[in-house]
Parts: sequence; C-alpha cells; structure tokens
Amino acid sequence: MASKPTLFLILNRIVFILSLLTFTAAAYPPEYDSLVARAVVDSLDIDQFKAFDKGLADLGGREYGTQSNSQARQWLQNKLEDLGYNNIELQSNYQNVYCTKLGSISPDSMYIVSAHYDGMPVAEAANDDASGCALVLEGARVFANPLIKTHYSIRFILWNAEEKGLLGAKAYVDEREPYQGSAEPVWLGMIQHDMILYDHGLPPQPTQVAGTDIDVEYQANSQAAAKSLALAEELFDGCEAYASDYPADIGTRMSNTDSDPFKNYIAAVSIRENERLAEIGQGADPTWHTQYDEYDYFSDEDWLLGFNCVQMTIGTICRLAGVYDSTPVSIEIPHTNIQKQPVLSTIAKEIKIFDTLGRKIAEHHGSCNWLQYYKGLKNRKVLPAGLYIIQMIDTKDNSKYRFLQAVN
Ligand SMILES: [Zn+2]
Repeated sequence: MASKPTLFLILNRIVFILSLLTFTAAAYPPEYDSLVARAVVDSLDIDQFKAFDKGLADLGGREYGTQSNSQARQWLQNKLEDLGYNNIELQSNYQNVYCTKLGSISPDSMYIVSAHYDGMPVAEAANDDASGCALVLEGARVFANPLIKTHYSIRFILWNAEEKGLLGAKAYVDEREPYQGSAEPVWLGMIQHDMILYDHGLPPQPTQVAGTDIDVEYQANSQAAAKSLALAEELFDGCEAYASDYPADIGTRMSNTDSDPFKNYIAAVSIRENERLAEIGQGADPTWHTQYDEYDYFSDEDWLLGFNCVQMTIGTICRLAGVYDSTPVSIEIPHTNIQKQPVLSTIAKEIKIFDTLGRKIAEHHGSCNWLQYYKGLKNRKVLPAGLYIIQMIDTKDNSKYRFLQAVN
C-alpha cells in the first residue's frame, strides 16, 4: 500500500484545515444566545417574586370595580415605573395595565406575558392571581435591564375583570386584534399565568406531593391549536432547561382564563399549578376562591413551584424573543498556537455574507445583531447547508472581521 502515506498526509491536512475552520467559527460560540438566556434566568429572584405577590395581596381581594382594585392598578403602574418602564398604558374600559419591552430588531412583533390583577373579595387573592402578576412583574424587572436586548418585543399585561368573565382580555382582543401589523404589534404568542403556587395532588394533601408539576395547557379545540401546541412544547423544553426543581406537563383543555379570547387567533397557552378542569375544577386547590387564598397560607415549597414557573416562562421567552446581551463581550481563545482573534462585539455596523466561492448571498447595512441576522437567514433557508464567509464591521472599534460559519 504505497499510496497510504500520501493519502494519510492529505487526510491529515484536511483535518488540520477543518480544525482551523472550527476554531474560527468558535470565535463566537453558537451557544451564546442560550448563555444570555441562562444569565437572565439566573438574575431572577424568588424573594422579589414573593415581594411582588405580597404587595398585591396586602391590598386585599381586588374585586373589579372596588377601591382595592383601583389601588392595585395604581400599585402596578408605580411598580412598572420604578422598574424603569416609561411606556405604561391603561387599555380599554376595564383598565388593563401593560408595558412593553421593545424589540431591538423587530419591535413591531411581540410576545404577550400576562396574568390578571383582579381577584375574588373573599381573601387576598394571593394565588389567584397575585402569583401570576408577580411572575409578570419579575419578568418585567429582569428585562428592564437596558443591556439585555431582544429581537422581538415583549408585552407584560396585567388584565382586569378576569373573574367577571375574562372581560379585560376580551376587550383587548376585540379592540386590538384587527390592527395587528399597523397600530398594534403582530402577536407572536400569548402566555397567561393563573394560580401557580399550589400542587398538593387530588385529593389535596397537607403538603406538596411528589408528582408536583407545572401544567401548560392549550385548547385542542381552537383554530390556532397547532401553533399553541408548538408554544406549549417550547415551554416544556424551557422548563427542562431553566426550571430548577419541577417538570412541566402539557394538557389540551385550556379553560377559564385570559388566554381563551386569543386561542383562535394566535398561539395561546395558560400556565397553572394544576389542570384547570380535571384538577382545580374538581377540588385540587382548597384556596381557590376561598378564605385560604392568603399570602401566609403558602409554604416555601409552594413558592418554589411558583418561582419555577417564572424560570420556565422567562427562560422560554428569552429563546423565543431572541435575547441577546449588548454588553461588549470578550471571548478568550483557548488555542495558543494560533494567532489571537480580535474580540467581536454583538452588534455590527454592516454585515455581508458570502459563499465560499465569494458570491455575496446577503447584506445588511446599519446597526444589527449579526448573529441574530445570520440565524434569521438560516431559519428562512436563505443559507442552505454549507460554509459561509461572514464579513462584518464591528460597531465598537470599526474594525472589519471575516470568518467562517457553518450551516448544518
Ligand atoms: Zn384566576
């Protein structure tokens, strides 16, 4: 086999060149997005989550039309303002409260993260639904960081008059649905949270049960069922990735909450401690609309379940809304035998993408997150499998970079 050494040499050479390519591509780790999502989830705080719940619970039952309800509305506006939002709005006759984290690349498309701030007048409505509101506020808190950017917008909505028949959410859909893409951003998906603290099994046990989980429900009998299932699956995956203690389960009978009016238009799911019809409706939660729905009734384990819902939703929203960190990053190159790469920042001034024959495939002028741009092209199959040369001008120091990225 005289030819073997030559062949071996060629193969060796190819492997060497491939290793160079791999190194170049790794100058910007592909998992960077999930690293940012991880950092955002790590900045969530269970004590903040509990404090938000307590703030609302202290105002009483918040029944629609009462003074307690008006106080809650004012309290929510103040909180969102304290967090740094200057675009808080009151919507419809029911006075839903919302603010929006504006996307940096596609601000006119948004995800909705929501809960209802009204409650039943029998107690503090700490679980139904101050717990969901606390999730929304904790999400709004971490996304208020101006260095955390998202591709798409995220609207944090606190509905009113849910207990009167989903009136606030219905009014929002009636007033805004027809104007998507003009006066209203396009709705990409809607995640409602309603009672997220208490899973003690059915019949309910004194303490949390071993099989405790988070119930993500969509409505199989709706026009957007396929999209809603896809959103539920994203949340299921997000739970695995980001929730510290509890798994998620997907159900098909979303019911009796503010995601309902959205279900025939867009992906819409509800997140709860239990399935609404088969469990809560059958007595799984003794605090539901009773005098026990008070802040002090819930145990550390109950709060931990609620906080896992926060981790799941916010981690998933990071992925869906395309979170990135606009802080200039420095990436250490572990190789020592190769000349050090200059450090890229996230935002490019200009991007051009060529195939390996040097033919230009795409370009973008103006400030843009280059990785999001690249991924967008990949997802839209503008870039089929292969190697591409990315050429970009860094906003930080105006230096020009060329490197290879592989599309699998
Ligand atoms: Zn509720």
